[in-house]
Amino acid sequence: MAEPFPVGYLNGVYLPLASARISPFDRGFLFADGVYEVVPVHRGRPFLLRAHLDRLARSLAAIRLDNPHTHTEWANIVGELAVRAAAPEQLVYLQVTRGAEAGRNHPFPQGVAPTVFAFTGPYPAPSPEVLAQGVVGVTREDIRWARCDIKSIALLANVLLRQEAGDAGGSEAILLRDGWLTEGSSSTAFVVLGDRLITPPNDPRILPGTTREAVLELADTLAQEIRPIPAAELAAADEVWIASAGRGVLPVTRLDGRGVGSGRPGPHWRRIYAALQAHLDAVASQPPL
Ligand code: PLP
Repeated sequence: MAEPFPVGYLNGVYLPLASARISPFDRGFLFADGVYEVVPVHRGRPFLLRAHLDRLARSLAAIRLDNPHTHTEWANIVGELAVRAAAPEQLVYLQVTRGAEAGRNHPFPQGVAPTVFAFTGPYPAPSPEVLAQGVVGVTREDIRWARCDIKSIALLANVLLRQEAGDAGGSEAILLRDGWLTEGSSSTAFVVLGDRLITPPNDPRILPGTTREAVLELADTLAQEIRPIPAAELAAADEVWIASAGRGVLPVTRLDGRGVGSGRPGPHWRRIYAALQAHLDAVASQPPL
């Protein structure tokens, strides 16, 4: 994201982002002991908010951290930040850690309040060039941990993999675990073979994507297969897409230096991209929860 908007939320208080302060003993800093969510705001309205808040609740439960807020309270924080930032298109980040104790101990501290931090920035809309040409992907071995279904703030492996993709001239690392496609370093991966849309099943190896669900709902002209995808199928794909709240759905047109299908954004991607845009516009006029 480009520079965030100057408004933030920290532990119950809206404040200028520049004056937000967190203890260096925060367990997020010491242990990456926390989770997060990213909620897109379109035309001033959060998109798929319930799905994001459900996943946040799930991530918190998975790390045994009590959810500090109800859905309505979270919705109010997202809404208030979006209003204060006063931009139609935003990405709101919600970060929750197990808080800061006086000391550094692996076991959970008792009686320590979580740290709740939220900020927002401009939505990085894909450039006309990206929409016309697609993005470059680079496959890498998925070196992440065994609970990728938790939206953990421990993103070091994702960061390293994304950097490797960038170093190789790409903008996403497409991850393979033992020869099977998992997902992108920060996106869900889809493969189109003929008129079939294929994506791996939700399991501990991938993050259950909110955009994934929307894409599956909207891609009704394609037969859908939710199943493991071997590397050979990825290499033979007619189209490869990546999807995330921050990037929408984008075509991967080059993978490991070779064209995917025709090497241009494919017809199925064009259809799903248009459908997702229309869906965004439609839900922008509905209540957030
Ligand atoms: N997988 C990973 C590893 C991600 O980081 C993300 C989003 O950031 C996704 C998948 C897509 O999830 P969503 O569509 O909810 O943004």
